[in-house]
Formats: sequence, C-alpha cells, structure tokens
Amino acid sequence: MKPILLATLLILLSSSGQAAGTSKVTVSVRGAHCAACARAIRGQLAKFKGVKFVADDLKPGESPQYFSDPFEMQVGRTLDTGIGAVAKLVAAAKTPHRDDIPPRLNLVLFTDFTIDEVSVSRLREELLPINGVLVNEPGGLGGRPKDGFFWIRLEPAGGAELREIVDGAKKAVAVRLREEE
Ligand SMILES: [Zn+2]
Repeated sequence: MKPILLATLLILLSSSGQAAGTSKVTVSVRGAHCAACARAIRGQLAKFKGVKFVADDLKPGESPQYFSDPFEMQVGRTLDTGIGAVAKLVAAAKTPHRDDIPPRLNLVLFTDFTIDEVSVSRLREELLPINGVLVNEPGGLGGRPKDGFFWIRLEPAGGAELREIVDGAKKAVAVRLREEE
C-alpha cells in the first residue's frame, strides 16, 4: 500500500471512532422490565468482547416500560460477533421477570418516510424470508411514526445477519442504522 493511502485510511478509521470489522447499529431491548432486569441484560452483554455501548442507555423505558429506548451499539460483522450473536446473548439473560417478558434484542431502523400500516406491512413482507427475524410474532415488527423508526425483533437462536436485514428492509423503504448518518 502506498504511504499516502495508508494515511488516509488511518484518518478515516479514527474519525469514525470505529474499529475495523465492526458496525454501529441502533437497538432497543425488550425485557428491560425493571432496573434488575436491565442490569441482568447489561451484565450479559458485558461478557461479549466485541460489543460496545453506554451501560446507562440500557434501562427500562417510559411506555411501555419493558422496552428500553433505542440506543447505539457497536457489534462485529461476522456470525460469531454480529447482531445475531448479540440477540442470542440478550435472549439468554437471566432477568428476574423473564417468564413475563422474555428478553429480546430489536434492531432499530430509521427512516424519513411516512411510517404507517402500509410501510410496516411492506417491510414485514420483505423481511419474512430473511433468517433470524421474528417479524410475524405479535409486536415483532412495528414503527413509531413520531420518532421515525421501525423496530425488528431478532430471533433468540441467533442467525440474524445485519447486511441481509438492512438490504431486505431497503427494498421496502429507505432506512438507515442510526438516527443521524
Ligand atoms: Zn424486572
């Protein structure tokens, strides 16, 4: 590699603040039922070396309370460290209320387009054949128009692949992984 190219690459890497081979995504956690449940999920995620997030972001939300608000997380890009592996880990968290609200990871995708029944059902249709997503479960996929995002529940068995989900979603509606991009 020519020195000038290498220098550019290093600047790009440091300016994004992101290590090579990782992606920044926005997620929300279902099952952050109370402070103790949220703590159990945080503890579970802390075991995962490739995952980075601000611990305080993972807490019970406003309404419904057992969903955390969306927050950014850094994940790997391979099947072992990617979004599916993180979803599997979240689902295994021993939260005190897991019998009432089993913990699950939701991928959050932002859009500038109108979120309504039509766009939600178009999105569901495109994501149905894709591995690792639970878009047909009650509450497994939905949209919050006022905040401009869709959520997609990920399967506890893992197997979800970020690229595949995003490419599928983009056939239905223009989406992005983070609120500002
Ligand atoms: Zn709880």
